[in-house]
Amino acid sequence: MVRSESKVSLQDDLNLPGEPGTYVLWMQLTGRITVQVGKLGRMTLPPGMYAYVGSAHGPGGLRARVQRHLRPHKPVHWHIDAVTALVLVQAIWFEPSPERLECRWARTLAALPDVAMPLPGFGSSDCRCRSHFFAVPPGSMRQAWEALGRPAAGPSAPRE
Ligand SMILES: [Zn+2]
Repeated sequence: MVRSESKVSLQDDLNLPGEPGTYVLWMQLTGRITVQVGKLGRMTLPPGMYAYVGSAHGPGGLRARVQRHLRPHKPVHWHIDAVTALVLVQAIWFEPSPERLECRWARTLAALPDVAMPLPGFGSSDCRCRSHFFAVPPGSMRQAWEALGRPAAGPSAPRE
C-alpha cells in the first residue's frame, strides 16, 4: 500500500485542551488496505477519506487521547488502533465538553449523503450506534463540519 502523508504530527500545536471532549479523526487513504479489526473481522478499505468519532474522558482529556491516536506504534486496544497503525491522521476536529457527544456526532455523520460504514460495529461496542467509523466523500467534509456545529479543527478548518 501507499502510506498517506501525514498532515498532523505529535509536535503540531493543535491547541488540544487537556479537558474532556469529543473528536473526529480524519484519515486519507491513498491505497487500498485490508486490516483485521479485533473480533469484528477483516475490513478492506479503498482509497478515500475516513472519519472516526471518539470521545476522551480520561486523564489528559482530548490532548492525551489524540496524541495516543497519532502514535503509530502502540498496543492495539481500540478498533481504531488497527487503522491508525497503517493510515496517518490528516485532520482533527474537536469539541471540549464534559458531555459525551460522540454518538450524536456519529449519527450526524451517518445521516450525511453518500457516507458509508465500512464495518458495522466499528468503535461502537459500548453503544447502540451502527458504527463510529465512516467513509466520507472528500466533497462532503465541509457539510460534515457544518452539521457538527463547526467544531474546532486542526491543522486547518475546512475551506469555503
Ligand atoms: Zn455510539
